[in-house]
Amino acid sequence: MAETIFTKIINREIPAEILHDDELALAFRDISPQAPVHVLIIPKEPIESLATLQTEHQALAGHLLLLAAKLARQLGLTNGYRLVTNIGSDGGQSVPHLHFHLLGGRELSWPPG
Ligand code: AMP
Repeated sequence: MAETIFTKIINREIPAEILHDDELALAFRDISPQAPVHVLIIPKEPIESLATLQTEHQALAGHLLLLAAKLARQLGLTNGYRLVTNIGSDGGQSVPHLHFHLLGGRELSWPPG
């Protein structure tokens, strides 16, 4: 898989406001926040999207989801929040490295555009 901007963040080649860093995952604030809290949660392994996750990634997938819930608690999103992953061009994915958007801190409308 080609290097993306997220690989550069993982490798500390470009700066980001990192909220969590472990062996498997990184979480950092989105550069263009769409809500008062907008955090991206990514695997360190360069997986293109949810659509390319394999059975071998089961534990990693669980890790990313549990991390999202933990960050939401730590960030005080007691009123709720949204976890989104965009997949491919119809899904509006602009960075081809799997990521979950954790959005909160305001009431979010539905359906998304
Ligand atoms: P998506 O459109 O779902 O692929 O989401 C990609 C997200 O990455 C967008 O919300 C961007 O604002 C965000 N993004 C792009 N470059 C950076 C960066 N250097 N640091 C933090 N977030 C970024």
